[in-house]
Amino acid sequence: MKAWEDKIRKVVPYVAGEQPNKPDMVKLNTNECPYPPAPGVKRVLDDLDTSKFRLYPDPEAKLLIKELAKFYNVDEDMVFVGVGSDDVLANAFLTFFNSDKPILFPDITYSFYPVWAELYKIKYETPKLDKNFAMNKEDYYVPNGGIIFPNPNAPTSLLEDLDTIEDIIKHNQESVVIVDEAYIDFGGESALSLVNKYENLLVVQTFSKSRSMAGMRIGFAVGNRDLIKALNDIKYSINSYTLNYPSIIAGAEAVKDREYFEKTCNKIIQTRENTKKVLGDMGFEFPDSKSNFLFATHKNIDIIELFEFLRTKNVYVRHWNAPLIRDYVRISIGTDSEMEIFFKYVKEFMKEKTK
Ligand code: PMP
Repeated sequence: MKAWEDKIRKVVPYVAGEQPNKPDMVKLNTNECPYPPAPGVKRVLDDLDTSKFRLYPDPEAKLLIKELAKFYNVDEDMVFVGVGSDDVLANAFLTFFNSDKPILFPDITYSFYPVWAELYKIKYETPKLDKNFAMNKEDYYVPNGGIIFPNPNAPTSLLEDLDTIEDIIKHNQESVVIVDEAYIDFGGESALSLVNKYENLLVVQTFSKSRSMAGMRIGFAVGNRDLIKALNDIKYSINSYTLNYPSIIAGAEAVKDREYFEKTCNKIIQTRENTKKVLGDMGFEFPDSKSNFLFATHKNIDIIELFEFLRTKNVYVRHWNAPLIRDYVRISIGTDSEMEIFFKYVKEFMKEKTK
């Protein structure tokens, strides 16, 4: 080994879902929205004044913060924005998880959490979900250095009700509790209603799913102003200009259009419910998803073979070769016609391969 190699920080990075770019592919593997962003987004980007690129963007992203605060009916100093919720979450791990006690998150959850914990040398424990993938809230009533979980959880798709979330927050007044609501807009009840009641609660959301803007990389957090100040202090100690100018103006424009947002979410919910019916009739089993994806298994088929078969048909879903979830495949909800193509190939596979 070369002497300098010894000094390098070694990490096992998070593996993002693949981003193939094939004509006519059906891409149901990274929970993106199949519909375009609100029409106003195209309008402001078409009119973009590129001479502004000369200048640094507003480090406070005030335009975007203002619209988010208005939309969610909170004060502007209760909102933090970042380059996707991954950026917000990475900053939150660094800001709030700084204890000798372990932080807690479920054993089956967003696989980025252990990566940040390892990177920042934060101790962690992972209470087990039950056999239906539900959290056992009592597991979180123990001394800890902080708590984080997605709601709905990923990749399981299962939503915990707001009472359960509130119980966990109530029992953890000495820690920061982060609820990662990347998928909350597809039928869940947000913990945003609790941010004025609990000063240790941080709610994180993203523009990548329900607002159809994964490519712009916008995420945000809402919480007590002291939490937001602490997050900003860390942000300004790493990189002041996180959101670029087009993202700030396009993001603000997307938030203004509540009607389009609600229409898009409802369409996805409708397609999801139909997908449950069709897959259920084929013998698939899955938690009752309240997200924009299903996490499905089948007693009589080899899920890995199905995953590979679909790839050969240009249909991409996501599979983790990880204990506990090896027999599951995660299917993002696309348009109705994308789902029809998906169903067609699943049927074809089952005809050939049913054990
Ligand atoms: N949280 C969860 C639970 C997710 O599944 C994702 C998507 N990979 C994210 C956060 C991050 O999303 P983004 O950075 O696109 O906002």
